[in-house]
Amino acid sequence: MAFAGLAAIVLVYKRWLHVNTTTVALTLLLFILLLATEWGLRFAVVISVAAAACYNFFFLPPFGTFTISDTENWLALLVFLATSIIASRLSQAARDEADEASARQHELEVLFQLSRDLLQTESAASLLRSLPAAVVDVTAARYGLLYLLEGGRVFQAGDGMVSEVELPHFQQIAISLTQASMTADEVQMPVRSGVRPKGMLLLRGVVLSLETANAIGGLVSIAIDRAQALENVARGEAAKENERLRSLMIDSITHELRTPLTSIKGAATTLLESEVNAEDRHELLSIIDEESDRLNRLVSEAVETAQLDAQKVQMHFERVTVRGLIDEARDTCGWVEENHELRLQIAEDLWLRADPSLLVKVITNLLENAAKYSPSGTPITVTAEAQGAGIAISVADRGIGIDPTEQGLIFERFYRGRLQASGASGTGMGLAISRAIVEAHGGRIIVTSQLEHGSVFTVLLPGGEASPQVASRIR
Ligand code: ADP
Repeated sequence: MAFAGLAAIVLVYKRWLHVNTTTVALTLLLFILLLATEWGLRFAVVISVAAAACYNFFFLPPFGTFTISDTENWLALLVFLATSIIASRLSQAARDEADEASARQHELEVLFQLSRDLLQTESAASLLRSLPAAVVDVTAARYGLLYLLEGGRVFQAGDGMVSEVELPHFQQIAISLTQASMTADEVQMPVRSGVRPKGMLLLRGVVLSLETANAIGGLVSIAIDRAQALENVARGEAAKENERLRSLMIDSITHELRTPLTSIKGAATTLLESEVNAEDRHELLSIIDEESDRLNRLVSEAVETAQLDAQKVQMHFERVTVRGLIDEARDTCGWVEENHELRLQIAEDLWLRADPSLLVKVITNLLENAAKYSPSGTPITVTAEAQGAGIAISVADRGIGIDPTEQGLIFERFYRGRLQASGASGTGMGLAISRAIVEAHGGRIIVTSQLEHGSVFTVLLPGGEASPQVASRIR
């Protein structure tokens, strides 16, 4: 096509437009410049030589030969050739610079995008898992691999997974690499923590400048360091929180045990030391009776938690109807119905295989909580229905609700809502025990709640057969 263009210029000037040789030379020069910008130097040089030959053959006397009679024309031809080649070189240099600038801009965009992707993740485990894919994605590499010296772990993304055999090879590279290094198809970047080698990142099927490769290596190292540092902080905070919960638990147990003990002691002392009439005597004995029941319950709850914790509860599964379970739970906590209207919406013929005494405990706990944490007089609704292949039993109240930040915590052992810590009595063990029991039945317990509007606790259990198993650990 370039030669056709050359031929066209020659034809136009030779046949139709009879202009002087300078105009012809300038037109050819312009043509060569255009080609140089479009197709590069090498091509422009070839065309320059061809154009010089045509210029000589058609426009410099004697016409129709490659010989030149006049020395001035020799000079003109040489100047033409030199100008066209120098101009082509300049235009090639400009083109290279423009290409380089756009490549740099692209690489900067890659780095920016990568830094955004990597610094968003806070968990080290998920960062490591997603890192190769993120790098492959933004660099458009064919394959990416992250190798960590610690544990010889490999995370990869893209085509062409590596085999175990290559691991020792990676280990060697990771230890010795201090700078990004490249071969035709592969870029290797060190991953370090300060000066300590941590691993390496390898990309295949991508061309990067050395600076960008080093920057990507640096970015990946910082992202991993950052995620691990954040995790360490979180772990430290979790340990502190655990410690706080432990002391709260001791406070709670001491308080809970002391209250009934104080009442029993007070009533007994009064009975022993003073003359009391029959009516007061009966009242004091009732206090002793009730409070020892409470004490008994507290102690058995503590024992039960410890047993569940140690996975020592053997469950006895039998076929039970959901209505039967709910009725038994209502009998166990009769006081709830003294203060609240209980609305029941129980589908007929719902049955499952479960340990009845344990499930009754769960429903009783939910009913008692609903009553404890809602104003007296408000209704409590118990619903049971088939849901998919399973059964859903929910207890809904119109009480104080649970703060969204606490909804995940209330199932933890000894956790008591901030609002309740000093209010309604309790040990913070009820929901933890309930969750352990439900999970041991292969089910789940969930809560939806809105502060000041009420809460709904739902127990989701698999319907039909459930295999007996030891109760799972309370977490
Ligand atoms: P306890 O009732 O002894 O404190 P639980 O494990 O049964 O212990 O409950 C843990 C916490 O969950 C309670 O302290 C309370 O803050 C919150 N909670 C449980 N049920 C409800 C409910 N129905 N409404 C509002 N808060 C609740």
